[in-house]
Amino acid sequence: MCGVFGVCAKQGIDVANLTYFGLFALQHRGQESAGMAVSDGSSVRLHRDMGLVAQVFSPAAIKELGEGSVIALGHTRYSTTGSSRSENAHPVPFHHPLLGPGAIAHNGNLLNADALRAQLVEQGVIFETGLDTEVMARLIENTHGRTWEEVVRRSFARIVGAYSCGVITPNQLIALRDPYGFRPLCIGYIPLPGQPAHVVASETCALDTVHATFVREVQPGEIVIMDEHGVRSASFQTSNKHAMCIFEFIYFARPDSILKNCELEDARIRMGHELAQEAPVDADMVVAFPDSGTPAAIGYAEASAIPFREALMKSRYINRTFIQPDQSLREAGVMLKLNPLPRSIKGKRLIAVDDSIVRGTTTKRTIERLRAAGASEIHMRISSPPMRFPCFMGVDIGSTKELIAAGRSVDEIRKHIGADSLHYLSIPGLIRAIGRGTSEEFCRACFDGSYPVPVPQQLEMDKMQFESPSPQLAKV
Ligand code: SF4
Repeated sequence: MCGVFGVCAKQGIDVANLTYFGLFALQHRGQESAGMAVSDGSSVRLHRDMGLVAQVFSPAAIKELGEGSVIALGHTRYSTTGSSRSENAHPVPFHHPLLGPGAIAHNGNLLNADALRAQLVEQGVIFETGLDTEVMARLIENTHGRTWEEVVRRSFARIVGAYSCGVITPNQLIALRDPYGFRPLCIGYIPLPGQPAHVVASETCALDTVHATFVREVQPGEIVIMDEHGVRSASFQTSNKHAMCIFEFIYFARPDSILKNCELEDARIRMGHELAQEAPVDADMVVAFPDSGTPAAIGYAEASAIPFREALMKSRYINRTFIQPDQSLREAGVMLKLNPLPRSIKGKRLIAVDDSIVRGTTTKRTIERLRAAGASEIHMRISSPPMRFPCFMGVDIGSTKELIAAGRSVDEIRKHIGADSLHYLSIPGLIRAIGRGTSEEFCRACFDGSYPVPVPQQLEMDKMQFESPSPQLAKV
């Protein structure tokens, strides 16, 4: 989970301000830190810090970044490697001995970062952080080539894992997506008089914010180069398998974004339709765990003809619970975040819909609060399959120890969260709701453990820790 946004324009266009707005639209992808690198054609300047986009960039900072700049690259960060501190904010700067300065912003997770780091250390390279993005930066610095394109292509040929990246150099903005296409990345343009400004963004909602026209998604294994001559692209790595993260469709990406030509709000409503068909139940109202459970709850209500009602008020000022980096912060976030409406739910049988259960913290506490407010029955319906396996491709799902569904049956989970019934959407139901290809075209490893890329043994050992393997898990 991270957001990447970049603009390449000509003199007179405020690229820093455009990037600031683009990052605002991508705030949901990372709330720990934010940063921006800008280029005026010869030098690269950087501003990054801990906090939300609005906290990191004062009006004065944006004004200063914008002066004379023609290219900008911004990032919102949620940590998957490297701890939560300001030195780890992106973009990460580098200096190539022949070509000069630059910076890189990354969404994803490298699977061979440790091996590459060890090779670079052996060559005498000194690292300042534990970031896999710094491995990319140092790799770029230590790769021969006469042009940035050559250097970047050669560097990324050595990288294995999930990455959707932006690289800023004095005169180019380069976008790359790994050959599996785990994380989203798209390109657009702003039709300005004289010469359009070219834009790269993690999600289409960020293009909308700056009035950019969506052109297309960056293809898996594609490198896109934007500069004063326009846009050109090439394939730099191929794979016979694509594996876009299916969780982007369920939860991560914003509902007003479009992925694989699919508007996510519509797909999430269809997930609710599928849930209602798979697990109907007699009840008085359908309620959502807002906001991420709302589209599927609306879909469930449509398909079941049971009215949708608001039962939980969400504080608009609490960050997303799931992506808080620390468990104690998550717990406090849950309590602050959702408040029941007792008059609507007293004595009522509820179908409560959410998009996922990760650690179970939110679900258990919220069910307790709904019961305390008078709900007579609570039937949980989840618009994704149980998450039983960790993610190695850029999402902080943690180890199996932190996953409520790892090693537990659905009924054990139901008892743990205190629901009267519990049903998770099946993988076939999820694929039908998305309506864009077969299950083989997505990464769904956190549900079924079939990782599209072999995971290094040490990483696997760190995260696969089942306390009580259940017979059900053995069947997956
Ligand atoms: S393991 Fe899950 S969260 Fe990670 S990339 Fe695959 S589908 Fe997405």
